[in-house]
Amino acid sequence: MNLTNIGTVRDILSRHGFNFSKGLGQNFIINPDICPKIAEYGNAKEGYGVLEIGTGIGVLTKELAMRADRVAAVEIDSRLLPILDETLADFDNVKIYNEDVMKADLHGIIEREFSGLRCAVCANLPYYITSPVIMLLLESRLPIDSITVMVQKEAAQRLCAKVGTRDCGAITVGVNYYGTVRQLFGVSRGSFMPAPNVDSAVIRIDLNKEHQLSAEQEKFFFRVVKAGFSQRRKTMANSVASLMGADKQTVYSVLTEMGLPEAARIEQLTMEQLISFSMKLMEHNG
Ligand code: SAM
Repeated sequence: MNLTNIGTVRDILSRHGFNFSKGLGQNFIINPDICPKIAEYGNAKEGYGVLEIGTGIGVLTKELAMRADRVAAVEIDSRLLPILDETLADFDNVKIYNEDVMKADLHGIIEREFSGLRCAVCANLPYYITSPVIMLLLESRLPIDSITVMVQKEAAQRLCAKVGTRDCGAITVGVNYYGTVRQLFGVSRGSFMPAPNVDSAVIRIDLNKEHQLSAEQEKFFFRVVKAGFSQRRKTMANSVASLMGADKQTVYSVLTEMGLPEAARIEQLTMEQLISFSMKLMEHNG
């Protein structure tokens, strides 16, 4: 079954009485060039189990299942299950979990499904939760080699920005702490059904860095980073003090100790400075 043929897709959807949910970010890929490329760039190959997030009608799932040893996919919309039964009928190496990815036990899924295999994540992410999903994948310390995902073009720019520049966000710090990121290729809005209002890009994050901090330090570090970037136009003394319940004077003294101005804003700090700032603040907080 050709899942990038518009006639075929329309036929399956109408036979199952399926209507797209905008709220769930349902824009399905209909450009035949995209999914094979995501699968190939994304480590879908022998010896690998691939975790997919959001199957839609299975257009990417199928490409992953053709190449990897096993595929486990988390899809929140139960209306897609009978469709997937039909579109993935030829594959016995795919397991669908009808769950919300933000609540699913991803460690458990990987352990159960991918025993003895290396693991990678591939997805055309639902855009409304792009950053939370990527942060979840990173912060959960899952045993994965890479995350290859389609995201909106603006999100790709933020993900691939340099830490310490205006384009940087909490997610940029996240990917740079855990690994390295690069943009693979752009995808025009016409490649989807229905077409979204913006273009997209596929990025790949390689989780290739040793963790510099303990689990507890890491948690504190990302609380600081998220607090700082959620009010990026404010000075760090204001954003971090108000959102983390820290004393403003303490933030000032940490900044001074580091040779930074009291009016420093979070987007001005390099990766090393962010880590050092957070660890000093953690010490001061006892
Ligand atoms: N992979 C398909 C494709 O490329 O055509 C579908 C991609 S579509 C952009 C996003 C998919 O994620 C939809 O199938 C949607 O139902 C699903 N989804 C949305 N929110 C989700 C969540 N919280 N957990 C799991 N799946 C979710």
